[in-house]
Amino acid sequence: MQTLRASKCGLSTAQLPSSILDVIDALTKAGYEAYIVGGGVRDLMLGLNPKDYDAVTNATPSQVKEVFGRRCRIIGRRFELAHVYSGRELIEVATFRAPPKKEVTSAAGMILRDNNWGTIEQDFARRDFSINALYYQPRKNEVLDFCNAVDDIKHKTLRLLGDPLQRFEEDPVRMLRTLRFAAKLNFSIDEKILDIFTPEITQLLRDVSPHRLYDESQKLFTMGHLNRVMPMLIDFGIWRQLFAEIKPEITPFIERAAKNTDQRISIGKTINPAFFYAVLLWKPFLERCDFYLSKGVVAAEARAQAGLDVLKRQATRTIIPRFAETFIREVWEMQTRLLNPKPQQIEALSSHARFRAGFDFLLLREKSGDNNTQGMGIWWENYQTLSVDERERAIADYNRQRAKSRRKVSRAPAEEIKTASIQQAEIEPLVNEPEPRSRRARKAKSASDSRRQPAAEVAEGISADHPILKRKRVQRDLSQVVFGPTQ
Ligand code: ATP
Ligand code: MG
Repeated sequence: MQTLRASKCGLSTAQLPSSILDVIDALTKAGYEAYIVGGGVRDLMLGLNPKDYDAVTNATPSQVKEVFGRRCRIIGRRFELAHVYSGRELIEVATFRAPPKKEVTSAAGMILRDNNWGTIEQDFARRDFSINALYYQPRKNEVLDFCNAVDDIKHKTLRLLGDPLQRFEEDPVRMLRTLRFAAKLNFSIDEKILDIFTPEITQLLRDVSPHRLYDESQKLFTMGHLNRVMPMLIDFGIWRQLFAEIKPEITPFIERAAKNTDQRISIGKTINPAFFYAVLLWKPFLERCDFYLSKGVVAAEARAQAGLDVLKRQATRTIIPRFAETFIREVWEMQTRLLNPKPQQIEALSSHARFRAGFDFLLLREKSGDNNTQGMGIWWENYQTLSVDERERAIADYNRQRAKSRRKVSRAPAEEIKTASIQQAEIEPLVNEPEPRSRRARKAKSASDSRRQPAAEVAEGISADHPILKRKRVQRDLSQVVFGPTQ
């Protein structure tokens, strides 16, 4: 172990927010050891802006609770942690961990319960990558480096501590972390990892809970280098584990959306990770729509059912929270509305809560060469720049065009077109809730669904004890949810 002067590593307390200093100081004052560890130290050394700061201490979670009182909450079962609120920020405070006891690992070697407190040396050995295992004590101006991690930072190398195979077996999510950090930091992956990182070993991810995999997928989508990590997910066989129903192929639409997401992050705009799920699942959704249409199901019903099917299948890998699923289905439904809006609804549509996301999605489709948008992406883009009078004229023009093409195609009844006005009109809900909330209504629905052949197909490949079938239904107030891509 070497003790480095923090200032020589480019670190200073001036870079740190008061929240993390407050936590370190309070623990130190109470007589405990406390360090900043993980991504915060790593990113500062690399001259990046850390996403957050994690603290580590020799105080147990209940001792941390004693220090911070009501500002502290103990969370986690497998991995007990203290969450400390400092001002408006939340700092994760972990206790030094010792190696897990034998009886709490699964047959495949995966760690199931992990609350065995230990020393700083033991804690170091439990961390994933050398660059994530530097301990920074800001008040002492010290960095503890147990494995020459500073060299790995210098040489931009991602090195797992210990035997890579064993570390992946203990926690298969480390495979995702490998690709995430390699892409985010633009580091090369150590040969020893590459030697064992085969598509076969990615099968271990099947034992990881789809909730945890959803969280990890979100981190991949929001780290700012999505475009770089996407091909890596395919090359390393991770894609098949995360998105089993999506062909491992980076279509121009996916690529454009990934670049767009990264760009938004680089200029500090918010993004909604569910938006990228809507992009990834768009093709399977269209294919499923075609399937229902070919069975003679009417278009609106086909879209509704296809949306549910595709999300249900995805939930066998990553469980997307219900409010995010609704968002995805609304973005898809918006595509139909934006493509062929009723003239009297145009103004109302443009101020609909889901308009921005739906429009962004449409424009991305159009700009990536999807001809099915019929130029409506640009039409809406232009529409938003117009004054009230110009909007009225644009709607009237659109109305004339629409009438013309309708007459050509189907000789639509003239009254329908005549009734079109440019007044605002109410828009029906974009999607209906997938399942009734009451148990009795759900039972009745499932009985009627099982009579329908398409719904029966949905359950294909999902075993009865799969977590998706055990999901708790939580009533959410969607009016409070802020969706990202266009805020
Ligand atoms: P980010 O910039 O994404 O926050 P991070 O390195 O801080 O990156 P966290 O998930 O916040 O990642 O974890 C904090 C630290 O905890 C890591 O740096 C690492 O030392 C340790 N850690 C997290 N997950 C694992 C894991 N699966 N196995 C071993 N150590 C882990
Ligand atoms: Mg972190």
